[in-house]
Amino acid sequence: MARRNAAPCTEKRVALHNRILLGLILGAAAGVTVNLAVGMTPAVTWIVSTVAEPLGRVWLNGLIMVVIPLVLSTLALGVAGLGDVSRLGRIGLTTLLSFLTLTTCAVIIGLVLVNTVRPGAGLDLGLREELMATYGGQSEQMMGLAKGGLSINTFVNFVPRNPVQAMAQGEMLAVIVFALFIGIALTTIPKEKARPLLDVLESIAAVTIRIIEIVMRFAPYAVFCLIFAVTTRFGLGLLGSLAAYVLTVVGGLVIFSILVYSGMLSLVSRRNPLDFFRRVRIVTVTAFSTSSSNATLPTTLRVTEEELKVPRQIAGFVIPLGATVNMNGTALFEGITVLFIAQVFGQDLTLAQQLIVVLMSVVTAIGTAGVPGGSIPLLMMVLQMVNVPVEGIAIIIGVDRILDMCRTTVNVLGDMVTATVVDRFEAGRTMRSEPALQRS
Ligand code: ASP
Repeated sequence: MARRNAAPCTEKRVALHNRILLGLILGAAAGVTVNLAVGMTPAVTWIVSTVAEPLGRVWLNGLIMVVIPLVLSTLALGVAGLGDVSRLGRIGLTTLLSFLTLTTCAVIIGLVLVNTVRPGAGLDLGLREELMATYGGQSEQMMGLAKGGLSINTFVNFVPRNPVQAMAQGEMLAVIVFALFIGIALTTIPKEKARPLLDVLESIAAVTIRIIEIVMRFAPYAVFCLIFAVTTRFGLGLLGSLAAYVLTVVGGLVIFSILVYSGMLSLVSRRNPLDFFRRVRIVTVTAFSTSSSNATLPTTLRVTEEELKVPRQIAGFVIPLGATVNMNGTALFEGITVLFIAQVFGQDLTLAQQLIVVLMSVVTAIGTAGVPGGSIPLLMMVLQMVNVPVEGIAIIIGVDRILDMCRTTVNVLGDMVTATVVDRFEAGRTMRSEPALQRS
């Protein structure tokens, strides 16, 4: 019955997904052509900075606009829907274990690759100086951000003093904690007291989801603009000079996704990986073109529920949390980049130092904001910690956007893989205790 109702809707969505992909390909083709044929002339700069980028940003803002109400409502409803706090504890533990396992595997695969390929060993010294001169200013600006990075206050502020302020400032972890408390409280007060707030939250969730559907209709055009702007500005020549490094990161992301995600899906979640990747295509293209886990979050949530059929209570808990704390692709990228920069400067990190890189990549990936380039300030902290020149970040800044697109895609895939893992565990338990599994 539900399946019959879903069919026309799915057809429409597949069409949207194809149109977004078309926008992506056309935008990239147009951008690369302009880049190679004319370069950044004043007219091209004008078109990029006053037409293409603003149009793309309006769309991104439209998605980000609903993230806070969406996280607050779906997470609180998800926790309230679990019914009891012990179930929340169990789901929370499975979720965090899955996040940690995936992130650690990602860094380890990254480090094995970078130690084998050694992309930094052969980098020309002249190129190193040239890149540091060109991008040095940009990396100094980021140094300021890195100083405000992780500290004990970061952990203290997970529990917001003022939730409204936390929401206004987009502090996702603080909003998540607030939503968890609302959900827990809702399950522990009398039903008639809880009902009005549950109704309001349900209405907020429904409205935000509708807004997302409207905003996503413009995705093909916005994605065209965003990708056009990125590829036009992009130093394609730079991609060639840093090819060994770029290929190590992208290869690592691909190997990790194929080995670890497919392995988790088939062995733990008992799902067909090919079917999974087919169902989540729209999330993949959205993450790739926005470079932002947060901007992709509304789509990730919808697809996890509707296409992967993960129950709302589980998706509503795992996906918002994952968009903020689970960054597998970012961790892999950080590990490779720290060692790459060390290699460029002729430093060989000892095993102990590399273990610090593993640990810090996992921790900083958790602290990374799900926005474009969110990991760069934290990456600089890791460099500092193992005494690799922080200025070295300038070497990779020029190609970071392209890598960001790839790692963000892997980040959101990891959230959905975890949702299926948690679903599998919970379904197993429910099936043992109930005759039929109810999936909303
Ligand atoms: N852009 C990434 C994300 O949103 C974060 C990063 O690695 O910079 O997931």
